[in-house]
Amino acid sequence: RLDMEGALTARDRVGIQDFVLLDETTEVAVISNLKKRFSKDLIYTYIGTLIVSVNPYKDLDIYSKKQMDVYMGVNFFELPPHIYALADNAYHTMLTEFNNHFILISGESGAGKTEASKKILQYYAVSCPSTTLMNTVRDKMLMSNPVLEAFGNAKTLKNDNSSRFGKYMDIQFDSQGDAVGGHILNYLLEKSRVVHQNHGERNFHVFYQLVEGGSDDLLTQLGLERDVQHYYYLTQGECAIVSSINDKNDWKSVKNALQVIEFDETNTNHLFRVVASVLHLGNVHFDPDSKGHALLKNNTELNWVSDLLGVDANSLKEGLTFRKIEAKTEQVLSPFTIDHAIYVRDALAKAIYGQTFTWLVNRINESMENKCQFWSYKDSSRKTVIGLLDIYGFEVFYVNSFEQFCINYCNEKLQQLFIQLTLKAEQEEYEAEGIEWEPVQFFNNKIICDLVEEKHRGIISILDEECLRPGDATDLTFLERLEEKMGNHPHFVTHKLADKMTRKTLERGDFRLLHYAGEVTYCVVGKLDKNNDLLYRNITNLVCQSKNTIVRECFSAVDTTNKRRPETVATQFKNSLQKLTEMLMAKEAWYIRCLKSNESKQPGQFDEALIRHQVKYLGLMEHLRVRRAGFAYRRKYEDFLKRYKPLCPATWPHWRGIPADGVELLVQHLGYLPDEYKMGRTKIFIRHPRTLYATEDAYEK
Ligand code: ATP
Ligand code: MG
Repeated sequence: RLDMEGALTARDRVGIQDFVLLDETTEVAVISNLKKRFSKDLIYTYIGTLIVSVNPYKDLDIYSKKQMDVYMGVNFFELPPHIYALADNAYHTMLTEFNNHFILISGESGAGKTEASKKILQYYAVSCPSTTLMNTVRDKMLMSNPVLEAFGNAKTLKNDNSSRFGKYMDIQFDSQGDAVGGHILNYLLEKSRVVHQNHGERNFHVFYQLVEGGSDDLLTQLGLERDVQHYYYLTQGECAIVSSINDKNDWKSVKNALQVIEFDETNTNHLFRVVASVLHLGNVHFDPDSKGHALLKNNTELNWVSDLLGVDANSLKEGLTFRKIEAKTEQVLSPFTIDHAIYVRDALAKAIYGQTFTWLVNRINESMENKCQFWSYKDSSRKTVIGLLDIYGFEVFYVNSFEQFCINYCNEKLQQLFIQLTLKAEQEEYEAEGIEWEPVQFFNNKIICDLVEEKHRGIISILDEECLRPGDATDLTFLERLEEKMGNHPHFVTHKLADKMTRKTLERGDFRLLHYAGEVTYCVVGKLDKNNDLLYRNITNLVCQSKNTIVRECFSAVDTTNKRRPETVATQFKNSLQKLTEMLMAKEAWYIRCLKSNESKQPGQFDEALIRHQVKYLGLMEHLRVRRAGFAYRRKYEDFLKRYKPLCPATWPHWRGIPADGVELLVQHLGYLPDEYKMGRTKIFIRHPRTLYATEDAYEK
């Protein structure tokens, strides 16, 4: 019998590297193990093949090329936990089984999802076999990151580099394992940030980068001042300059990245013109005339917008201050109040920026497309992918609006996917293999997903109904409808519906959802508007004729002649998440659960209460129990035999019988106790990783 304890103590001087091995599965034991490891800068711990990662908030020397080499082609449990081990295992399983995979990276805002996804992408870029041709595809995949982060990330109160859009990236491989192409799907950018930022937050990075880093010539061409304080859209959060961010350097990286992804001079120039036009637009201000109607304060900024976007200045001015109403035989111009003019100005800025972001993703996709005709001819049916999902994390602010509602709903969906896949996969596998087991109860958050998305009854449906209702629909009537329909739902409450105690904590214009990750109070103000996201037709017509090719392309794709109402923002988002979920369900899943170590972004600080909360809502304890109640590892008989047959005289050098019989002989020879393993139809199931560790150690000797 092998010396399992000996093998264990050597491995676990610094805490247990797989929670499945803990003596007891209590929350206290789990957190104390995390803490012990964190204090030694060991930020990764397994639960079977799932990785728990704790944000260290400092650079660790664990991502070098040398480290990558160490993890290449090595079994999961042979080395200290690392996301490279997961990346490598997904890769090798894909190659041996010719199937598609995805890596779901979840956790709240600031927990380290984006960093993890970048590290995995780097791992593939560096460690997969390569040819010169494919290297260019790889560079493009890597370089898509700084560009998309510049346009889609921003400083929030939770995270100095918070993703404000959802991103799913497929890395495509050929049958030899070469990375040959990439494709990105983007989800709902938080456009409202373009025109408004809360205190302590910034607009998207790119604006500051351009103003700080752009050359004198470029700024002159774009009519910009080198002073971020000069721009209304950059200063509302009163933190335009942040010590942790170097906008000047980042600008250089973005410019360089744009070259790698093959943006030519015209495209780059037009892209910068769009960015600058938004800054100018924010500085277009209005004064009231004698009747309170909006008049432009002065024409300078407006002329710059018209120049940069290549649209007629007078028409733009008219569009910002009048609404054109088409009567039977004539057009009537109805003047705006100041508030209305500001609303239209902001709507235009958001629309231009939002559309440009989607355009950017499309362009990046074109550039990452596999251009190797030889490859597609050779092997197009053999293409497999590993998808990386990195979406904005669950967030709760002092005031939560439509955007937080969408972001948190998205996190509910991902949690639901996780629950379905872990339970489903586990149960189906035991069933298929004829293994008996006792299911573990999870908190199933389906009830919250339904509350938000159910047809005709969910919050999104009710919001859409109010958006479509002609006449007197307002944010408050929406709230009333919710109260009528949701009455006594256990996860929904408003001031009116609350008991005395809860009522004290709720304003009248709010509703509160009990999310899987905690309570969030949403303010209804602006919900109808943001869900409708309308642009007046005269403005749309104007930008359709823009001489800026990006803007023209973006808006001419939007069909203005179509009389049917476009889908609302929430419904579009719901549908895109539905599609994403279906696509992911068809792939093999790997999980990285990121935990935030503290709220103040400090290295070395382990806030136990904060960690406990995340361990709870991420369902880590339940996942651990499922893993422990079941079997931590399983392997096909053939694979198990192939690797370990040298350990038993009866199976070495060849086993000519049925593989399962060979495995049975082998494990008996190794001294496995009856309780430690089960023989399924095609696989051996091993309860504890330590059993396999010991076998692996014997093999290494
Ligand atoms: P959001 O949902 O807001 O996008 P996120 O989960 O993507 O949040 P990241 O942007 O990945 O969070 O991480 C936030 C910050 O934490 C990073 O900018 C970095 O400073 C630090 N960080 C995260 N992961 C690591 C790591 N593995 N090593 C060192 N620092 C890290
Ligand atoms: Mg992120």
